[in-house]
Amino acid sequence: MPLLLFALTALVLIVLIGRPLWVARQRRHLRAQPMPPFWLRVLQRRVPLVARLPAALQADLHARMRVFLADKAFIGCRGLEVTEEMRVTVAALACLPILGRDETDYDRVRQILLYPDAFLVRVRHQDRDGVVFDGEEARAGESWHEGQVVLSWADILDSAAVPDDGYNVVIHEFAHQLDDAHGLSTDLELDTPPHAWAAVLGAAYRRLVEAADQGDDTVTLLDPYGATDPCEFFAVASEAFFEQPARLAEDDPALYAQLQRFYRLDPARWAPDAPAGASPADRVAST
Ligand SMILES: [Zn+2]
Repeated sequence: MPLLLFALTALVLIVLIGRPLWVARQRRHLRAQPMPPFWLRVLQRRVPLVARLPAALQADLHARMRVFLADKAFIGCRGLEVTEEMRVTVAALACLPILGRDETDYDRVRQILLYPDAFLVRVRHQDRDGVVFDGEEARAGESWHEGQVVLSWADILDSAAVPDDGYNVVIHEFAHQLDDAHGLSTDLELDTPPHAWAAVLGAAYRRLVEAADQGDDTVTLLDPYGATDPCEFFAVASEAFFEQPARLAEDDPALYAQLQRFYRLDPARWAPDAPAGASPADRVAST
């Protein structure tokens, strides 16, 4: 009996210690693979934002994309056949936000569901005046707590084609996954924020809510959709951080600094984003 117990304990230890080592070895192997020329053509055609990155970060992005594509399942929905072009486009935009972070941040992401275009979801919610909406809404993307991201291919293309309008559905949905993993939006509405992150983001969130209540979209750079709740605020702020970094740094330096600290990146030092005054694209609802 003691021998059996010893053998079982040894087996558990081998699995517990061995698996992370095996995963790390696999990832090292994947990162060392050469970049397929087709991927480069897809990035040039579909993800112009990548061209703003310094060369070293572009190389790191390619390596992370290989790991991401080996780890995550892609599922076509409503008859969509998922192509290599789609997988590469999503992987590039999903990996960009974690370039300064550990790729284990996405360990909980299991699969990406792709629809050909905006998809309908059944929703029921109540607005601030108590009016209940019960019906269907069109969505460009959704992020689920169970490690699933749902995206519309048409909206991915549209939002990626303009790299400096602050609207990018892939960055938005994967920011939600980072939020889920780290609890980034949990303390934003507290009266006494426990740390600078919550104090700065909470203040910026309240500013956006007040502007949205007044119907004034000129108070801050951020899309009024971020006033929906703290989760949406972080996702929208992340879109601006990567697509309009110089303008965000000018508009709200404290918010930019906090995001810079979390993402461990300084996109304002990359190639320039849009000149001041450019207007954001229309946003299809996403969650
Ligand atoms: Zn959202």
